Amino acid sequence: MGYQWLRWSTLHIGHRLTGSPQGRRAEDLADSLFRTSAPLVVSSFPFQAQAWSRGTVQLTVSDGAGALHLASVALANTPLSCSVEAPLVDAGNGLPEDLDRIGDRANGAALLINIGLVAATEGTRNLHRSEKAALALARGAKALVFVNQVDGHVLLTGTASIDGTLIPVPAVCIATEDGTTLRKRLADKEALSIALTMGNHSEVVSARNIIAEIRGAEKPDEVVVVGGHLDSWDLASGATDNGLGSFSILDLARAMANTPHRPARTIRFVLFMGEEQGLLGSRALVKHYQESGELKHIRCMINLDMSGNPQGFGVGGPADWGSLIARLSSEIHGVDTAEFAGRASEEVWLHSDHQPFLLAGVPVIYPLSDLGKHVYGCYHSSCDDIHLVDPQAMVNNVRFVGQLIYHLAAQPELPPVFTEDGLRARLVEAGLEQPLRIGGDWPW
Ligand SMILES: [Zn+2]
Repeated sequence: MGYQWLRWSTLHIGHRLTGSPQGRRAEDLADSLFRTSAPLVVSSFPFQAQAWSRGTVQLTVSDGAGALHLASVALANTPLSCSVEAPLVDAGNGLPEDLDRIGDRANGAALLINIGLVAATEGTRNLHRSEKAALALARGAKALVFVNQVDGHVLLTGTASIDGTLIPVPAVCIATEDGTTLRKRLADKEALSIALTMGNHSEVVSARNIIAEIRGAEKPDEVVVVGGHLDSWDLASGATDNGLGSFSILDLARAMANTPHRPARTIRFVLFMGEEQGLLGSRALVKHYQESGELKHIRCMINLDMSGNPQGFGVGGPADWGSLIARLSSEIHGVDTAEFAGRASEEVWLHSDHQPFLLAGVPVIYPLSDLGKHVYGCYHSSCDDIHLVDPQAMVNNVRFVGQLIYHLAAQPELPPVFTEDGLRARLVEAGLEQPLRIGGDWPW
């Protein structure tokens, strides 16, 4: 059912941006699908948060003789109102070495920067667009023109800010085809300048995480959370990011609540809003769990973000969790040998709704998916639509994540959650101290 529901939603609701009318309709839809598809205990968790949303943007490139209007989209957390004119300078991939190469010319300029890595020497590590923006701002850039990497006039959005505050200069994304043309003209020593005008909004929005629960038959006070974000960016319908995960969760809840077997532990399905604008819904819920004492009941959190056709599971938890997840993954492989590879991983990463749970010490689990280049190329982009979704990939989410949930709910004992020292050591070992500090999220 997950695919049919998602398809309906992409046709009749469209995107699911938090705080927008479409976002509210998506919350209503999730609430009623939980209620009508199965005997679940459904509730919602309202929250308010400061959120950025796009207004208008206009980008013009001029060579002194004539002007050209280019299709562009504003990146998130760009100024609420600004109008800038500046000479255009090619800053390559926007890495420190690229900025060193252009030197003083960055100061007061509009920098043309690749989102990905183009013609880089092997082993070069790319930076996130927000980190590139921070570097360019430190060199005095007046505007940022990011060049997307995906063929077919695809535009991408997402934040340009490392800490969620508004950045002081405008930043847009243009298509790879337009970026290539501008680069050629600059390489031919044409003097180009841009005029970039934008108006955006940042306001306190209200939204709701939608929650459904199956009470555990034997250990109702031990909770396995299964979460994923329902919200999406607004350039397309967000069918893969994260319709894939969120509508699979709706289907999982339907399937599990309609079987006669009641799990031993409580299963709590949570559809978060506000993920794209900064994990707003999951941060608010974890804060509430901490303040109310509910946190001590949360034994682990499974996060489905762009999950499809999983081939294994990864976990970030104290040592015993790694062996448990590896064992359960191989048990599922024993049942679905041809379709599920039974992989396991212990990588810890950030920037999705599992992050606030992890930082509160809760072991986090994630499906290992490989959706292919055609899907990842449309991440946060104007092409993230239902044609990218394989219905079978959603069925397999329900099959394999569902089995994992049953196993976790049925274990005689689950390994412990993180101690404070254990969590700190794990984050340091994973190289996450610096990114968490930059984002203002390092807990110590
Ligand atoms: Zn996502």
